[in-house]
Amino acid sequence: MEALSPARWWEREAGAVRCLLCPRTCIIKDGKIGFCMVRRNIGGSLFSTNYGIVSVSTIDNIEKKPIFHFLPGSKLYSVGSFGCNLRCLYCQNYPLVEGGFEAAPHRRLPPRDLVSEAISRGADGIAWTFNEPIVWSEYVIETSRLAHKEGLYCMLNTNGYIMDGPRDELLEVVDAIKVDIKGFSNRFYNEVCGGSLGPVLRTCRAALGKGIHIEIAYPVVRGMNDSPDEIGRFCEWVRLNLGSETPVHFIMVHSFHRIAFNAEIKLEDLEKIRISAIQSGLNYVYIGGTTKSPAQNTYCPGCGDLLISRAGDASAEKVYYKDQQVSRFCPSRSDVRVMLSGRSCPRCGRATAIVTK
Ligand code: SF4
Repeated sequence: MEALSPARWWEREAGAVRCLLCPRTCIIKDGKIGFCMVRRNIGGSLFSTNYGIVSVSTIDNIEKKPIFHFLPGSKLYSVGSFGCNLRCLYCQNYPLVEGGFEAAPHRRLPPRDLVSEAISRGADGIAWTFNEPIVWSEYVIETSRLAHKEGLYCMLNTNGYIMDGPRDELLEVVDAIKVDIKGFSNRFYNEVCGGSLGPVLRTCRAALGKGIHIEIAYPVVRGMNDSPDEIGRFCEWVRLNLGSETPVHFIMVHSFHRIAFNAEIKLEDLEKIRISAIQSGLNYVYIGGTTKSPAQNTYCPGCGDLLISRAGDASAEKVYYKDQQVSRFCPSRSDVRVMLSGRSCPRCGRATAIVTK
């Protein structure tokens, strides 16, 4: 399957190459592949093996990502490839990220073809999602530039685990970003995801600094990253570093994959977390990963008036890769109604940071 294209962000070191795309900084010997399973040393040079390789593609509302405050109800052409630089024990798309891709079903789409396909499917934008787009950066950057020329916006659904240099180049082509902050300790990152927290927080701050619309997801793993202390420190960090207007989504992590032994968090406990986040000063806090929570609508923090309602998941197509449903725990919201007056509350006039057309 490999589609070799020269990789960027690497250097030669002691008879091997060192990849400088993400904080793992893998040293890769000739013929070998990096931890993400998609960057290979061939003859002393680093190549991207997934350039232009599309594993999954579908149309859905932006709310599925979840992004709730950027062009609500707009249509995204969501596309993914293979590979990831983390190994979350609960990964819902693990067939796309854990290797063995050589014989896996895929399509080859040069950047222009993908943009044309997005337009022909009626998309307003492209979402880089499903696998980790950071390990697809060369293709994501080139294709996003073309997409912008054609009037599409680009959205990144990412773990944020990237080195500062490539991060700044990647963010140049992004209009909206959803970053997973997977826990608020290095211990959790190390034991459950195989990474560290610091680079993720730097990505969030960098995105905000560049004026990119940002939303944060915090996948809640029962008994592992849901203590009041850890949630409290996370909320305080968001408020102080990204601001009270930043949407935060607490996502129910299901008993799945390598964490199937762990019972999922109860909805009432997620609701307690949501209330504590609001009490800590965050204005827009949602619950995701389940269709059962009512915490999907946007209300004015000033007067409580309904600003955006979101409902329904029946019309969205379910996406399968081989026999596995992709992103199975992310509900679609096909019925989105915006009641804003411009960007403000129609009742009390309080301004929001919600991006509308
Ligand atoms: S992008 Fe892949 S090869 Fe490069 S450092 Fe990260 S995990 Fe290793």
